[in-house]
Amino acid sequence: MIEDRVSKLIKPAILAAKAYHVPDSSGFIKLDAMENPYVWPEEIRREWSEQLQQAELNRYPDANVSQLRTRLTEVLSLPEGTAMMFGNGSDELIQIILMALNKSSNVVMAPEPTFVMYRLLSTMMELNFVGVPLNKDFSLNLAAMLKSIEQNQPAVIFIAWPNNPTGNAFEQDSLEQIIKAAPGLVVIDEAYHAFAQKSMLPFLLEYDNVVLMRTLSKLGLAGLRLGMLFGASSWITEFDKLRLPYNIGTLNQLSAKFIIQNIDLLEQQAAKIRNNRESVLTGLDSIAGIETWLSEANFILFRVSGKNANDVHNELKEKNILIKNLHGTHPLLENCMRVTIGTDEENQAFLSALNSILLG
Ligand SMILES: *Cc1c(COP(=O)(O)O)cnc(C)c1O
Repeated sequence: MIEDRVSKLIKPAILAAKAYHVPDSSGFIKLDAMENPYVWPEEIRREWSEQLQQAELNRYPDANVSQLRTRLTEVLSLPEGTAMMFGNGSDELIQIILMALNKSSNVVMAPEPTFVMYRLLSTMMELNFVGVPLNKDFSLNLAAMLKSIEQNQPAVIFIAWPNNPTGNAFEQDSLEQIIKAAPGLVVIDEAYHAFAQKSMLPFLLEYDNVVLMRTLSKLGLAGLRLGMLFGASSWITEFDKLRLPYNIGTLNQLSAKFIIQNIDLLEQQAAKIRNNRESVLTGLDSIAGIETWLSEANFILFRVSGKNANDVHNELKEKNILIKNLHGTHPLLENCMRVTIGTDEENQAFLSALNSILLG
């Protein structure tokens, strides 16, 4: 029977895993996935498609991604001597880091709740994932982290900064203590850098056990899939061996290079999103029965009381609004949901739908 063959051949960790579920979102006001809600002006779209016409799709892509690399080095103020590699989204970079680990040290750690891919990919690779609970207010439990580091000697610690789904950026002092205590690598994941406007890039100079990730996804190019990993070349050289030779396609390289020349556009959009984040927060705070947390990202975490989050989530869907339900994903996230900041109209539609659901 085919089932027998499958279960004999496939790793138990994969058989036991659930596929990463992406809900069908067609027709919804989509506020579930931290996408930038704005499209490019007509003029920019035309220039972009002209650039794409230069692509020679009969040829393999530039394996070293050299032009894009040069452009990025110009716009990012990277510390002297920092090496860089690209992934098909930062998800791929997380996977590559995990694949590279020596079998002798198979513990991966992160504070939780956090970005689910750290745990998911570790589990699928049969690594031992240790999640250390955050405090109730979602601040880092430094004492618990340090104790767990001591006990578990993790090969890698992932820190999303700001954290997803809580939106806060942990205290830098605490992070430095973690970096100093870590026997292995600390990966700082700055997926929300554009909305936090602060970075731990300077730490790459100070600590040789830190690497840092960014992505273009949350900045406005989720469809492109481009993640970046920065760090000392001693680390990057090893990780780069695991990268499939042409993981960044020609169209992706051209598009990323083009948009980086127009980075002002994305930065203006990010500024608008940061402003709108404050109005959504004010809007949420004015609804009775809602608890919110401050966010330095392009989403807001909130909790409903007096009503179950599953019901509220479903009723929002009935009103054509899709946000992320976090109830049941972690004990600290009881009745919590996460809403991505959209356009003014989308935010308004969300707030008035939520208001009427909670009143009803
Ligand atoms: C969304 C997200 C990512 C994934 O980024 P991609 O580049 O789209 O793969 C990585 N880290 C965190 C913390 C995220 O929230």
